[in-house]
Amino acid sequence: MDNVFINKEIFKGAYILMLKNLFNKRIETATLYEKYAALASLLDKQLENDYEATTEYVEKNNLKKTIYFSMEFLMGRLITSNLMNSGYADVVKAAFDDFGYDLNEIELAETDAGLGNGGLGRLAACFLDSAASLSLPFYGNSLRYKKGFFVQRFENDKQREYPDPWLDKPFYWEERKEQEAIHIPYFGYVKDTKLIDPVWVKAVPYDVKVVGAGNGVITHLRLWSAEKSELHPYHDEEYLKMVSKITESLYPDDSTEAGKTLRLQQQYLFSAAGIKSVILEHKRLGRDIKDLHKYYVFQVNDTHPTLIIPELMRILMDEENLGYDESWDIVTQSVAYTNHTILSEALEKWNIKIFRNLLPRAFEIVQEMNRRFKIVLEEAKVPQEKIYQMQLIGANNVRMANICIYGSFSVNGVAALHTDILKNIELNDFYKLYPSKFNNKTNGITHRRWLLHINHELTDILDNLLGSKAWHKDLSLIKGLEQFKDDLKVQKMIKDMKLSKKRALIQKIKKDTGILLDENAIFDIQIKRLHEYKRQLLNILNIIYTYQRLKTDMEFKKNFHPQNFIFGAKAAPSYVMAKGIIELINKTSHVINNDTDTNKLLKVVFVENYNVTYAEYLFPAADLSEQISTASKEASGTGNMKFMLNGAVTIGTMDGANVEIVKEAGMENNIIFGLSSDEVNSIYKNNGYKPRQIYDEDPRLQSIFDFIRGLTINPTHFDFILQNLLTSDYFLVLKDFDSYVKAQERANQLYKDQKQWWHMVIMNIANAGFFTSDRTIAQYNQDIWQLEEIKK
Ligand SMILES: *Cc1c(COP(=O)(O)O)cnc(C)c1O
Repeated sequence: MDNVFINKEIFKGAYILMLKNLFNKRIETATLYEKYAALASLLDKQLENDYEATTEYVEKNNLKKTIYFSMEFLMGRLITSNLMNSGYADVVKAAFDDFGYDLNEIELAETDAGLGNGGLGRLAACFLDSAASLSLPFYGNSLRYKKGFFVQRFENDKQREYPDPWLDKPFYWEERKEQEAIHIPYFGYVKDTKLIDPVWVKAVPYDVKVVGAGNGVITHLRLWSAEKSELHPYHDEEYLKMVSKITESLYPDDSTEAGKTLRLQQQYLFSAAGIKSVILEHKRLGRDIKDLHKYYVFQVNDTHPTLIIPELMRILMDEENLGYDESWDIVTQSVAYTNHTILSEALEKWNIKIFRNLLPRAFEIVQEMNRRFKIVLEEAKVPQEKIYQMQLIGANNVRMANICIYGSFSVNGVAALHTDILKNIELNDFYKLYPSKFNNKTNGITHRRWLLHINHELTDILDNLLGSKAWHKDLSLIKGLEQFKDDLKVQKMIKDMKLSKKRALIQKIKKDTGILLDENAIFDIQIKRLHEYKRQLLNILNIIYTYQRLKTDMEFKKNFHPQNFIFGAKAAPSYVMAKGIIELINKTSHVINNDTDTNKLLKVVFVENYNVTYAEYLFPAADLSEQISTASKEASGTGNMKFMLNGAVTIGTMDGANVEIVKEAGMENNIIFGLSSDEVNSIYKNNGYKPRQIYDEDPRLQSIFDFIRGLTINPTHFDFILQNLLTSDYFLVLKDFDSYVKAQERANQLYKDQKQWWHMVIMNIANAGFFTSDRTIAQYNQDIWQLEEIKK
């Protein structure tokens, strides 16, 4: 297809034709959605040329590929990044100006591809963008959930979950590849390594193009969909129902095991289909199966894709007739594992019965792996009780992380502190056995979406001050901003940028909630999944205390700079405590927002349905970035990086990547408080923490608790939250309360010293270069993948 995006006039002709073909509409009569659909459809067609050329280059040159296995890809809207990265945005904008169309408004007609829960899925999406932009043959592999992450609404201040049937409307960026379908067997029983009487399901791939920035490279994200299989002898109602459930919806729980068999079915579907399609490709290109690891690396994003390890063993042994040792060599040279958590309750394990019933042959292979691993451990003189903990199967469970560590050549953490904790504490036994496998790859974010696309104001400032756009390609160049840290004219420019982003957010929040925020106030934002370790509870306790102080302490009131506290978070539907905290924050917000005594100074908003598109409004509008997890519990965080890059100061604990943010931007340019990771771990070890005592000795906490009891007619309504704080407080909220209050006071007063404040902000922006996922991907490639660039 000729390039119809080559200039404005040719594009206009092609676009008018597309509107007519798709909807039989004219420029004047098309609806917003039709305008969007015609654009998306035309752009996707245009991208076909570069996509085919990229595929051809990779195949002709036999380039090694990374296949990134991830159960989640939290993509958000694709229209803007595809327009931006392809370089066609300007032509489209010019044409739409002639039509009287507003491109920004049209882009909003696309619904988010919400195929993820939070940080882990968003990381995978950032990696796709960065790898394609660095011209690397990197391909995503996941599931095509018909329903994405649930839509959150508040009813009576409580979270209610509604389905997100995002595929009810056509998804213009995907291509179904029926001829590449893979048949997947479940259940049955094994006889001499053969699976007898399995239930067959067909996995059909849909490929979504991933557009590199300005380099003509287009890779893809492959999403597998479950359908009925022709191999299955009968298609009765029960069978069809089972099939339809497999890729029906994403599990809205990113920490604990919710579904059982169904979730394992999902994991096997995208793992087995992904591996098989790679092997078919490898053979089609005439390469020897024994060379598989020379042409592919399988990066496993957390343990959800662990099944690729036994599955690859199965194919190599049962279908390719290689021996165990030969197969194991190939597996352990091609699989690399990324660990994302240190919460031990979140380490994935599967009941043996469920596992063996669904995947009998895979279970046999894991048993054999386990038998051999135990020999390795015994030969290494590992003590018996440790062997028991390190086994692949134990306490009636199959332990996915243990399989990943044993079966891979690389185990990486996602921030320096996290990797240290893995090496020295959590996975210390494995580290001692395989020290060279362990490495760190600090997470990153794509600055194309999280700065260039969402913050044109800051982009323009940087273009002007840095004198070129070279920093768009190499984010480390924004260090050049640092020399302006005390330049009052530049400080004013940054302040105006912030004001303009606050105004956009104020408008959106007014429209969504009816609450009008003060643009002169400090925008203090905590947006992330609702989890006890992230400590939204600590935030609301301080807000209540601040409110009570504003009502009683006139000196404090006089000195207080107005502050807006904004929350965005979804709670897992079954996570009672998290949902209680949402309700508590909502109920508190009504009291505070309606108190005319204080509501010029203090407002609290909980935005509904926090997702990537909402995030794009929130990050650039923030002054304060809330990163207040219990130290050692947040593996990395990536929201912290998005805030920093857009000119917010971190108020946070020394946890996850906060440690590296402080290292880059300077301790003095962020507001750090609370227990250190070592202190937290020693509290756990000593077992002597008494939250009740802290409460008894702190009248501030007592009156906060009284306030909470007064929020509802029934004073015991929130007792499950309060009692938990008094009796256990595992996440050390009360322990860090005093330190957090002081940090908040410091932040409020620092903001009043505007010269100091904007100096801090500039230091943060200028030193955010390290946190681009381009750097992360370059490090993965250097240390783990060793891919060659696509140079077409
Ligand atoms: C970046 C991002 C996250 C991760 O936030 P953390 O603060 O790192 O937990 C979650 N959800 C969305 C929509 C994001 O954009």
